[in-house]
Amino acid sequence: MNKYYAAVFGAGISGTAIANELAKRDKKILLIDPHVSENAPGAPAGLVNPATGRRAKKSWRCQECMEALRELVDELIRFSGRDDLISDTGTIRPAINEKLADNFKEALDKYNWPEGWIRWINEEEVSELNPEIAPNFGALFLDCGFTVYVDRYLNTYRKYLREKGVKCRYEKAEYQAGESGDGFRIKFENGEVLNAEHVIVAAGHQTPGFRDWEYLPLHRVKGQIVWFEADEDLDWNHATSAMGYSLRRGDRDLIVGSTYEHKFEDLDTTEKAFNQIKGKLVKMFPNIAEKVRKKDQMAGVRVTTPNRLPVIGRHPQNKNLCIYTAMGSKGLLFSQYVGSLLAEHLINNVQIPEEIDTVRFE
Ligand SMILES: Cc1cc2nc3c(=O)[nH]c(=O)nc-3n(C[C@H](O)[C@H](O)[C@H](O)COP(=O)(O)OP(=O)(O)OC[C@H]3O[C@@H](n4cnc5c(N)ncnc54)[C@H](O)[C@@H]3O)c2cc1C
Repeated sequence: MNKYYAAVFGAGISGTAIANELAKRDKKILLIDPHVSENAPGAPAGLVNPATGRRAKKSWRCQECMEALRELVDELIRFSGRDDLISDTGTIRPAINEKLADNFKEALDKYNWPEGWIRWINEEEVSELNPEIAPNFGALFLDCGFTVYVDRYLNTYRKYLREKGVKCRYEKAEYQAGESGDGFRIKFENGEVLNAEHVIVAAGHQTPGFRDWEYLPLHRVKGQIVWFEADEDLDWNHATSAMGYSLRRGDRDLIVGSTYEHKFEDLDTTEKAFNQIKGKLVKMFPNIAEKVRKKDQMAGVRVTTPNRLPVIGRHPQNKNLCIYTAMGSKGLLFSQYVGSLLAEHLINNVQIPEEIDTVRFE
């Protein structure tokens, strides 16, 4: 029978990553997503930054995560010949008050950062680097941080997967577990049925729509970003992260985010969020904020768990049914490494770290 090793539901950051990690290990994969394609719109930019929050905390297993993501990005650049999938120009984290400067300096010594990843620059150096940055007490500069143009990245990734032999179906399907526990029937709307040994749900914030996973304590946080265009070329390329972020795209564009809305009814963009985000831009780049117009505004949802780490692994009642979600605000950074952990678990029975395993909710 023409059976797939796994049917992956969702071809976003998580779904593409697990599809690739399994395909790389010679498994036959079916990737399903009714909402995307190889030319789908998507987030214009996302940040990869391993020094997070007000304390610039080193994020979970960031060396492994960064290495895996870099390897993948290099592969996609080689494959596509494109030089506009990422902007590898570092990330500045200006300390907008003394307390933040103390926190940031402490983080430099507290964590064992890999050589060349992160350094402190004083106020003068900040203004030499970019005179438009608001008054500050110095900054952390992450040479390892980079910007991903998520729409281009994901479309290229899907094309890459298809060319590597992953069967990509951009249409609606449902799965049904076989009665003898020997896999799943994947049924498409046109009536076609395919068979898969495993199902992996990687449907982001739509995961709770899959009834098998309703029991997970997933928290959904709406976020909005605004895409601005300046009325003149901007002469810096680095990303900026300071109580929000501002990412460069093209000669004049700035993508600024984001809101954290814990209570929401829909995914509409709002004037309130626009004002909040514009306020962030004013705080980061006061002069530039006067010279921009809104090009677009977008809303999405982050999924998190109580320990703020992803959740991967098997379903307690059906060991061939798996999950890959809860990437929070770090989807890009986590994606490849976490995908490799799930692939190694499924194929070689390597244990998943407990803090990200579904077993933590059993
Ligand atoms: C405002 C905002 C800003 C962010 N900024 C950053 C950032 O700077 N850096 C960063 O790393 N992360 C950022 N994130 C987080 C990042 O977007 C998420 O971590 C990431 O999108 C999670 O990927 P995912 O594939 O798990 O889920 P998603 O991106 O939600 O993808 C899930 C996919 O599943 C599909 N799907 C849904 N239902 C089904 C179904 N029934 N069948 C098949 N497919 C289905 C959807 O169409 C979708 O394509 C941000 C998020 C928001 C909201």
